[in-house]
Amino acid sequence: MSTFWSPPVRELVPYTPGEQPVIPGLVKLNTNENPYPPSPRVIEAIAAAAQDGLQLYPDPQARAFRQAVANHHGLDVGQVFAGNGSDEVLAHAFFAFFRQDRPILMPDISYSFYKVYCGLYGIEATLVPLDADMGIDVAQYQAACGGVVIANPNAPTGSGLPLAQVEQLLRQQPDRVVLVDEAYVDFGGDSAMALINRYPNLLVVQTLSKSRSLAGLRVGFAAGQRHLIEGLERVKDSFNSYPLDRLALAGAVAAYEDSAYFEATRAAVIRSRELLRLQLQELGFEVLPSQANFLMVRHPGHDAATLAADLRAQRILVRHFKLPRIEQYLRISIGTPAQCTALVDACRKLLGA
Ligand code: PMP
Repeated sequence: MSTFWSPPVRELVPYTPGEQPVIPGLVKLNTNENPYPPSPRVIEAIAAAAQDGLQLYPDPQARAFRQAVANHHGLDVGQVFAGNGSDEVLAHAFFAFFRQDRPILMPDISYSFYKVYCGLYGIEATLVPLDADMGIDVAQYQAACGGVVIANPNAPTGSGLPLAQVEQLLRQQPDRVVLVDEAYVDFGGDSAMALINRYPNLLVVQTLSKSRSLAGLRVGFAAGQRHLIEGLERVKDSFNSYPLDRLALAGAVAAYEDSAYFEATRAAVIRSRELLRLQLQELGFEVLPSQANFLMVRHPGHDAATLAADLRAQRILVRHFKLPRIEQYLRISIGTPAQCTALVDACRKLLGA
């Protein structure tokens, strides 16, 4: 802490990112990246963009990308907002919509950046506990509030909320923004995109980091009715008017052009998840339901922190959260079939199974 820091900065509790090791050859299953590289068309588009035009500023409106997303979801370009990863989009959304007279509502176990943005912007939050099955109980979100944020599928638990329940949330809070963070939705969740033109309070946030294999490029977006997007644009234009650089723009557009690659890789991840679920259950793990590219698992006879450390000693990285209710769980991102096999083999050895 430095005396130069302004008082609010002294109070900040920043996000602790998952480990991004520089050690080669690790089986990295700790931060929910896609195990497959992006489409070759993405690489070609980025190379072409690098050849041409880097001396010029990018399009401050990121129109080509927003248009590609709008076409994909049957929206107008004005209903899409682009940002440097969905983390940035979420930050702008919290600032634009959640600094209200009342606390916002969010699940007690969810993406930990939500709390960080509340701290950053002085937003109060009421944490709503997950139900006994670690799911979101929408009936608990009826109180007068400043807005609602959920992740669907939730993180780090992985379970998805059916669309009818998302609609119930939207109807319960007609005067407040309900932000649905769909970072993992392409792995089997129910997307609320099709509800956008029916609900003026719905903001959907998605990322290209997971199902489009572009965590390294940092591209995310929000979709909603025009008045919400205008709110986000106000914040962006007061902060950084170039949300995407030229390489990110080119790569992100190309990712949407190669839908065959997208479909093939997400299907491969889903297949691996279901196989891994069975294999871990055979080893005695309890596995939470998941519609995401990760599994939350615990072993009744083994301490999660010890298991994570033992796996690390075998060069396999998984995530362990020291948080109430989930401290005995490991979150395992879905890898390639070879990575999943390495994980299962290592677990078998550690458990003596
Ligand atoms: N939302 C959720 C629920 C996440 O798990 C993540 C990734 N850690 C993000 C948003 C942010 O993703 P990105 O900034 O890479 O788009």
